[in-house]
Amino acid sequence: MVRAADKPEFEGTIVVLGAGPAGSMAAISAREESSKAKIIVIGVEPALPYNRTKLSHALHQEHLLHDNAAGLVLHDAEWYAERNIEIRLNSRVDVVDTYGKKITVTNLNDEETVEVKYDRVIFCTGANPWVPRGLIQMEDEGEEVSAKKVTNISFLRSLRDMLNLRASITTLTLPVHAVMVGGGVLSMEAMPSLLDSLPDGSTISILQGSDHVLSAQLNHEYSEHFVKNLNKHVAGKVNFVLNSRAQRILCEKDEHEEVRATGVVVKTHGVERTIEADLVIVAMGVRPFLPKFGGEGDEDLAPTLSRGTLVVNDHCQSVTSPSVFGAGDCCVIDSLPYAGTYSRALDTARVAGRNAAFFSLADKDIMSNMPSGPKALFGYQLRMWDTIMMSIGNTKPTDEDMIVSVPLPAGRAMCVFKKHKLTGAILIGHNRLEKQGMALVQAVRKQLSSETVMGLLK
Ligand SMILES: Cc1cc2nc3c(=O)[nH]c(=O)nc-3n(C[C@H](O)[C@H](O)[C@H](O)COP(=O)(O)OP(=O)(O)OC[C@H]3O[C@@H](n4cnc5c(N)ncnc54)[C@H](O)[C@@H]3O)c2cc1C
Repeated sequence: MVRAADKPEFEGTIVVLGAGPAGSMAAISAREESSKAKIIVIGVEPALPYNRTKLSHALHQEHLLHDNAAGLVLHDAEWYAERNIEIRLNSRVDVVDTYGKKITVTNLNDEETVEVKYDRVIFCTGANPWVPRGLIQMEDEGEEVSAKKVTNISFLRSLRDMLNLRASITTLTLPVHAVMVGGGVLSMEAMPSLLDSLPDGSTISILQGSDHVLSAQLNHEYSEHFVKNLNKHVAGKVNFVLNSRAQRILCEKDEHEEVRATGVVVKTHGVERTIEADLVIVAMGVRPFLPKFGGEGDEDLAPTLSRGTLVVNDHCQSVTSPSVFGAGDCCVIDSLPYAGTYSRALDTARVAGRNAAFFSLADKDIMSNMPSGPKALFGYQLRMWDTIMMSIGNTKPTDEDMIVSVPLPAGRAMCVFKKHKLTGAILIGHNRLEKQGMALVQAVRKQLSSETVMGLLK
């Protein structure tokens, strides 16, 4: 970015809450906009901002997780220092007072609480795994237990989750049965690494409430095709348990008084049964997370929230509170559908960071270049063994849409057209179809015509 020599720079304090990918990018963009602002990033995890998408693959590449995920971090400490960005790790944001413009932060190293003042704040606190109330219970009393207290229940969200999962796996010597609750992308991504990490002869059940896995990305037919491809590698080791919603995860105390999960009660077509488990991985989706808000002032200026998510405009600025910005999984842009994706986290963080550091927030020049319309469509790519799955846009066509199935030499594609424009596509097949998959993703973003799309797939 080229700065006009006479352009005034913002000199106040910008505090970024959350040291994930969005937090890191927001701080960098703020620094690009203002060389004079004081920029502080506060994160509760012990690691510098890291690429969360690589966590599941790191399960069987343990070295990547060591030294606070040194193998996954986006930039090292020196890099931030050179840009005069202060990063406070192991520091939990407890309360944000948007009226008094101050934040209460607890340093987890010494449990000391401090107050940090700001002129502008950027929320980048991401999302947490979702666990329905009452899901985890003691088997005999039916009393609810926190997942944190159960030694063999894991999530797939943070470095700590992965280290805990590794720790439970390394104690295993005999074959085990693991249950993954949720048949979405997280479970699919982690399943090969999990299979690789467990003792030989171990098996995995993947529970899915609906009648097909990857239900957010694929229709029934393509999901079946995907599973058929996977079964070439995992038949006899991985069982896809469809139409089966987890009702309860049952726990009991072992001889060392440790609470352990022993099985998962599932309901299939109205009938309950228990699937025994030595290890349970909960991957039922995430919920955006924001710290508590405090302080008092003009109610109209309080940041607007929608179901626990910060609502921002396409400047990534709170729709009601001008000094509050948001990026990544913890916020929703009022004009766009919510998607907890890595690229969206970075796109929003670039905009939020730059705008938070803008000299005058009343200036019309404040940046507003969020991709919108077809450009903002969420695409997903999954590679498992020699199989690739790509899905983008409208993959659940209605009667008004035209569906074209295209057989490919080592797979198949489904194209969904609305008024002859491509609005969604799925491709499943051999890895070597990646080029065609990428072309389809671009074709959906450009809403190309059916003739052009067929040409691309040849
Ligand atoms: C295993 C895995 C695989 C994924 N794969 C893909 C993929 O293939 N493609 C894709 O598009 N997306 C993927 N995602 C999603 C993607 O990683 C997220 O969309 C992205 O990380 C969001 O970035 P974020 O910075 O908004 O939030 P996060 O990455 O959640 O970071 C938020 C940070 O804020 C911290 N924080 C929260 N509360 C506080 C507090 N009170 N005080 C201080 N700090 C706090 C959190 O600890 C965290 O470090 C995957 C996610 C996971 C977990």
